[in-house]
Amino acid sequence: MSNLSVDHLLGIKYLKKSDVELIFKTADNFKKIINQPIKKVPSLRDITIANLFFEDSTRTKLSFELAEKRLSADVINFASGSSSVKKGETLLDTVNNILAMKVDMIVLRHPNPGASVFLSRNVDAKIVNAGDGTHEHPTQALLDTYSIREKHGEVRDKRIVIIGDILHSRVALSNIYCLQKLGAKVKVCGPSSLMPKHLDSLGVTHFSNLKKALEWCDIANVLRIQLERQDVNYFPSLREYSMLYGIDKKILDSLNKEITIMHPGPINRGVELSSDVADSKHAIILDQVENGVAVRMAVLFLLAGKIQGN
Ligand code: ASP
Repeated sequence: MSNLSVDHLLGIKYLKKSDVELIFKTADNFKKIINQPIKKVPSLRDITIANLFFEDSTRTKLSFELAEKRLSADVINFASGSSSVKKGETLLDTVNNILAMKVDMIVLRHPNPGASVFLSRNVDAKIVNAGDGTHEHPTQALLDTYSIREKHGEVRDKRIVIIGDILHSRVALSNIYCLQKLGAKVKVCGPSSLMPKHLDSLGVTHFSNLKKALEWCDIANVLRIQLERQDVNYFPSLREYSMLYGIDKKILDSLNKEITIMHPGPINRGVELSSDVADSKHAIILDQVENGVAVRMAVLFLLAGKIQGN
């Protein structure tokens, strides 16, 4: 297949396995390019992309911007904190005003689950979801899965445990969909209070014991506690969470095998990961960041190919 089955990247749920494979094959080429002395290609020279961030971001925002610039797109950036959103403008009005400036694609981060689906139905531009509340973060899952494929050769039959705040994490949901599509075995680990009720329907089981989870897996994808999304206390204290679910060198040394450690960032050092683990040779956290640019280039390139007349 030479193009995606979808017109927007709204969530991994809407992708086929062949879409993920096509994104990875395309990302392989872009990864080669961005490791050459001349890192830029003219592929999106006539395309204008707006990065609309209604929620904080460091890695994702920079990574999209770099991906767009490496593809030679024209880029405009918008952060809600310094905009007329503060004056009461609706999302649709903000976006339509931006589109009036002839923008072809929108990369949207928004606190409301479903915001990018809403936009895709109401505006005439290609939409890329860069994280919608607690719902999905598709490019993060793609870059995570791509990094597993790179490190372990393939994803099929690999055992991945996602550890931490599954309830509030868009990274967890998108990872579960993406890894399962490629045939990996996925389980989750963390306090029961941070597990969604619909885990069974996702085909995922839960470890409440960290050591057992680590003994089972080949790869641990460790998440941040999403304190900003928690309206009540889901566990007594961060200290207690860290004692039960924090990964340090001692627990890794007690396993009779080596496992790969991943984290989408930002890391809370000393809470979910100790520094000696985050900085160890088993951690591929910075490879994930590097792969993020190539994977986002692939997504933007493939979606731009669906713009009429391009
Ligand atoms: N950066 C990821 C996200 O935007 C993970 C996190 O914030 O903990 O969802």
